[in-house]
This record gives sequence, C-alpha cells and structure tokens, in this order.
Amino acid sequence: MNDFQSLTETELHELNLNLQTKYEAFKSQNLKLDMSRGKPCVEQLDLSRGMLDSVKAEDSFKSEDGADTRNYGGLDGIPEAKKLFAEMLEVSAKEIIIGGSSSLTMMHDTLSRAMLHGVKGSEKPWSKLPVVKFLCPSPGYDRHFAICELFNMEMILIDMKHDGPDMDQIERLVAADNSIKGIWCVPKYSNPEGVTYSDEVVDRLAKMSCGAADFTIIWDDAYCVHHLTDTPDPLKNILEACKAAGHPNRVLMFSSTSKISFAGAGVAMLAASEDNITFIKKQLSVQTIGPDKINQLRHVRFYKDLAGLNTHMVKQAAIIKPKFDTVLRILDSELSGKKIATWSKPNGGYFISLNTLEGCAAAVVKMAAEAGVTLTNAGATYPYGKDPQDRNIRIAPTFPTVAEMEKAIEILCLCVQIISVRKFLK
Ligand code: PLP
Repeated sequence: MNDFQSLTETELHELNLNLQTKYEAFKSQNLKLDMSRGKPCVEQLDLSRGMLDSVKAEDSFKSEDGADTRNYGGLDGIPEAKKLFAEMLEVSAKEIIIGGSSSLTMMHDTLSRAMLHGVKGSEKPWSKLPVVKFLCPSPGYDRHFAICELFNMEMILIDMKHDGPDMDQIERLVAADNSIKGIWCVPKYSNPEGVTYSDEVVDRLAKMSCGAADFTIIWDDAYCVHHLTDTPDPLKNILEACKAAGHPNRVLMFSSTSKISFAGAGVAMLAASEDNITFIKKQLSVQTIGPDKINQLRHVRFYKDLAGLNTHMVKQAAIIKPKFDTVLRILDSELSGKKIATWSKPNGGYFISLNTLEGCAAAVVKMAAEAGVTLTNAGATYPYGKDPQDRNIRIAPTFPTVAEMEKAIEILCLCVQIISVRKFLK
C-alpha cells in the first residue's frame, strides 16, 4: 500500500469508503474487547496455582530465622524473601524491604512520607516548600502521574528516547531548579514503550548535579524479569552507580511480583542504600507491625530461588509472546508503509506503544470504543492525561486471547487509517 500522503483526494475518498464499510461490519458484531489495562491472563495466573498449596495447613509456618510467619513482626520481610528479591534486584539483603502486595502502594506511601516528613537528607518536608516539581518521562505510567497530581506536585514532561529519558533536558533542568525533587523511571521494558535505559543514561542519572540535595529517583523496576526473548535487555545497576557517583541515597528502587505470581496478591519490595533502608524502616514501624509474611513464605517456597523464578518467567513469556507477535504482525500488515503510524517492538514488559499522526490518537480511541474495543484513554500516558501531540496509544496485549486480539487490532488499525484519511481530507 502507498503512503497515504501520496494519494490524491479521489483516492482518499475511495479508501475512506472502503475502510468505513469494513469498520461498520465489525461494529455490527457488537464486540466487547477490553485492552485497556496490562493485566495477566488466566493462563498466566494459573501458572502460579501451586503457590496456594506451597504453604499447607500441616506445614511449618516458620521462616528461616525461626519466626512464625503467622504472627506479628518482621517489619522488613522474612530473610528468605529478602534474599530472593535482593538477588532479583541485584542488591544485598540489607538493602531491601519486602512489603505488602503492591509496589504502587509503596511508591505512593514513599511520596506521601516525603511530603509529610521529607526523604533522607531533606531540610524540610516537601509539602512545606512553595512548589514541588517532578520529572515525568513520557509516555509513561499513568498511575505514577496520578500520584503526583494527588500530592499537587508540578509535573514536567521529559521526552523519551530509544535508550531512556532525554538526559540533556534532565541535566539542564535539575541543575537549575532546586524545586525539582525527583523523577519517575521505569528503567526496563518501560510502560508503555518497552524501552530499557542504556548504561549511559543510568550513569548520568546517578552522577548529575542537582539543585535539590534530596533529589530522588523513583526507580520502578516493575518489569525486571519480564523478558519476551531469550536475550534479555541488560540494565546497569543504578544503586551501585549512585554509590560510585557519591550519591548513595539518591535512588529508591521498587518492584513486585504482581505480574509474576498474582496481580494484587503478590509481594512488593523497596530497595535502597542501607542508610535509606534504616531511615524508611523507622517510619514504616509506625505504620505497620509487619507485612503478610505467609504470602512471602508462599512465594519463596514456590519459586525456591532466582533460577526457579526465571524459569517461571520463561513459561509466562511462552503464553504472552504469541499475543505480542499477533499485535506486531497485524500492525505491520495493516499500517506499514502508509506513513501514518509508528510502534514499539519491545523485548519484554507488558505493552506495545503506538504513535499515530499528530492530533489523531483521541479520535482513534473513541472510534475503536464505538466498535467495542476499549483501549487505555488517549493521553493517559502523559502528565495530567494530556498528550501534547495527541498521538500515543498504549496497547496491552496480555489479557485477551489471540483470537480476540486479532479482531481488536484489526479494528484499531482500521480506526487509525480512517482517522488519518480524514486528517488528509481536511
Ligand atoms: N509499576 C508499573 C510500571 C506498572 O506498569 C504497574 C502495573 O501495571 C505497577 C507498577 C503496579 O504494580 P503493583 O501491582 O505492584 O502495585
């Protein structure tokens, strides 16, 4: 197919009619396909069924240190969970806190405490400052941005490049403005573009000079073990980079097993320098007497070690890779060469990011919804829900079946084409 820009007006009208007929045919099928959120599918969840039996009523509930996991205590988690997840995040067991079931909760609470008390090294609580600004590499994770919005932090949009956020832009901003207190990073297989930060980006984040001495990197390593290929993207260890740069307390790392075991019933964690861990534990000890240690025990007994966890992730990939491949195959066959869209081809994570022509994404999402395909709201991947170019659409391939996916992406591609044709006809 020719690139749309080279078509005459008559050809565009003809194409429009053709596409519209196909669209109406889909519409009459009264479909209901939800691709709005990155949820694991039933088959993925079933892989962890055995975990529910990994701590049975007749078993010992004791953790490695002899503590009864059914009882209070163990603020920072049981030793074997610390060991397993420290290895996953490439930190030491002294540099990790195993929390409850959601990393988003831990990130929310971290920023909430920063507002109320400051982070380690803060002169005063962030909420006592006239303004708090946060850097938001975009497209990014909508729920990160929602936390900033809730706490009235001014979000600054940072462009994403193929190897991470635009570091020139970041270095310039943070050096000059001490009200910029932090940055959101999803460093591996980012949500939604699947970008993994390069060593250079990691080093520059660790080394850069910041106006705010308590500048904090929120390193949300949600997809650290979520590879789709057998040649995983490498990611440099940010905590080590920060230590080497003389800023050991600059980074707070987060992750969870939400998309390893059970979404919403997994295990979440926070990793940081030992000083940061001590500082945070003191605050946490007021909030809780201890997390759900039985769930931590279940996880460790089920996966056993990092090798076991990685094997589990290979099984996950076998389920979801065909779905990613389906999306990419249809995007390629329907949109390639037309110069109306570009899309990411991630090596891991949960999303494919589609960019339409400028000013088209919201109309595409609306049109797809009218044919029964629910996508993440256009704009959601940007601060304040506003994509300045109105072009990014997040595709979440994991939950639907391959057959559902085929239909949904065909409809999406039709909508992209129809809205693009309309743009040219204007
Ligand atoms: N961080 C990122 C980047 C995510 O994409 C998600 C879920 O989609 C989460 C965190 C949520 O993690 P949790 O379930 O541990 O709260």
